Amino acid sequence: MSTTLANTIFTQPLASAAELESKYPLRSLPEGAAVTRFAPSPTGFMHIGNVLGAFVDRLLADQTDGVLYLRLEDTDKKREVADGAAAILSGLNALEISLDEGVDGGAYAPYTQSQRREIYHAFAKQLVEDGLAYPCFCTSEQLEHMRDEQDTAGVNKGYYGQWAKCRCMPEAEQLRRLQAGESYTLRLRSPGDAARKIIVQDMIRGKLELPEYDMDVVLLKADGIPTYHFAHVVDDHLMRTSHVVRGDEWLATLPLHVQLFGLLRFKPPKYAHIAPLMKIDSETGGKRKLSKRKDPEAAVSFFTAQGYPAAALREYLLTLLNSNFEEWRRANPTEDLAKFPFSLKKMSSSGALFDLQKLDDVSKTVISRMTAEEVYAQALAWASEYDAELAALLARDADFATAMFAIDRGGKKPRKDIARWSQVREAYAYFYDCFHENLYSSSGAGWGYGYSDGSGDGSGNDWLKILKNYSEVYSAKDDKETWFEKIKSICEPLGFCSDVKSYKAEPDKWKGHVGDVSSVIRMMVTGRENSPDLWAVMQVLGEDEVLRRLKG
Ligand code: GLU
Repeated sequence: MSTTLANTIFTQPLASAAELESKYPLRSLPEGAAVTRFAPSPTGFMHIGNVLGAFVDRLLADQTDGVLYLRLEDTDKKREVADGAAAILSGLNALEISLDEGVDGGAYAPYTQSQRREIYHAFAKQLVEDGLAYPCFCTSEQLEHMRDEQDTAGVNKGYYGQWAKCRCMPEAEQLRRLQAGESYTLRLRSPGDAARKIIVQDMIRGKLELPEYDMDVVLLKADGIPTYHFAHVVDDHLMRTSHVVRGDEWLATLPLHVQLFGLLRFKPPKYAHIAPLMKIDSETGGKRKLSKRKDPEAAVSFFTAQGYPAAALREYLLTLLNSNFEEWRRANPTEDLAKFPFSLKKMSSSGALFDLQKLDDVSKTVISRMTAEEVYAQALAWASEYDAELAALLARDADFATAMFAIDRGGKKPRKDIARWSQVREAYAYFYDCFHENLYSSSGAGWGYGYSDGSGDGSGNDWLKILKNYSEVYSAKDDKETWFEKIKSICEPLGFCSDVKSYKAEPDKWKGHVGDVSSVIRMMVTGRENSPDLWAVMQVLGEDEVLRRLKG
């Protein structure tokens, strides 16, 4: 017992470990309920891989009637930014990941590490009392020198064995230097031996055999703030976390964490180490990690700004998490995602390939299955933040915009025209005058445009005649069948065949066919060669606007 040393280091009154254990008791949850946590550092940057981890946390908690809480790991003040927490919440929001605790507090508060100093100190003090931690007075210059020497000697770098200068310092010297006010860190006195192995069961990777950790790592930095390792162990124990889902960069220090749990007499949680997301490098063609520096899609904010619906991101990420998801989706095309039997065991230990093209495909399907009202609400919410002009147009007439989104929606084969809300402007521009004019003039459409087979006199005379004759018969009251009959009715007087088959039998007899006539009308009304169901488009636009457009 090193009570004197402990009391010299920790002079302020601290709770005992037993008191903390009872203040943060075991959670009363159903048997098997997973307690998961999302523990980001508020650096202002949210990697899509981080949110992927939070998604896994949420899935585990939901499957078991468990809990997901947020813990802000703000112990690295150098990396912290002022609105870091806001970026985290907006990242979670991009996938609509809800939190049960940690934003507005909860029974295991505080959830921000910088507010938990006394808690870490209480357990650090216990370790000192147990002879398992000691003050290290080595300066950064001395540590640098040590690493240089280790380099030269070709041995592992770090504070261990013979290199751990302060490990065997007599207590009298420790006390003298502490009382003299020398700066120090608190280090673990590791009982580990790298020649021995430990076995850890990872929920994704299965049984891992790893060497014991033998480094005397820093537990408390010189300013009394804990390192990640120490804070992780204390927090996940006291917050009663059952499953730690985190990036596989922590595998290297997993033996240290397991050791710390043991030395503190805590039961370790279950671990799931996720491999990083990968992408195909456009230059080399090889696989590499999705990089914060090189790839805009590494940031969750990219997806928010592009306007990918949360449902589409969730759907796509599930295809990366469990390879059997797509098969399940084919068998259950409209089932709620929550019904999918997600499994950590089915996750791959090598990184999944992140493919924006595939995300777009998934997203198109997800959006195509939404109701027009949902599309309207989500597109408007996105535009309100990222495209004020579009937002104003959508908001100006909600019924009109909803009717526009309803075209080709709801049937067996709904139209898959948009993958993200940022595409709404382009896809639906022609419904709005101000956009339509621009589009019309830049689309290449106009007088002299030829027909599908290159026929037409090129002078625009046919166009004018088609539009004039059609304007005379068109009525918004016509149902779809009558509407088409009327288009057919103007064909033959102008030398166009009203039936495609007959045209194909004798193409030389005609200038073109009914499809060409419709194309002229389509082009004039929408400014483009392809559009959703033209009759429906004209219904939404209304008679006055259609006539105005037909007249040019
Ligand atoms: N704060 C750590 C990070 O952002 C969390 C790792 C963990 O989930 O334990 O990498």
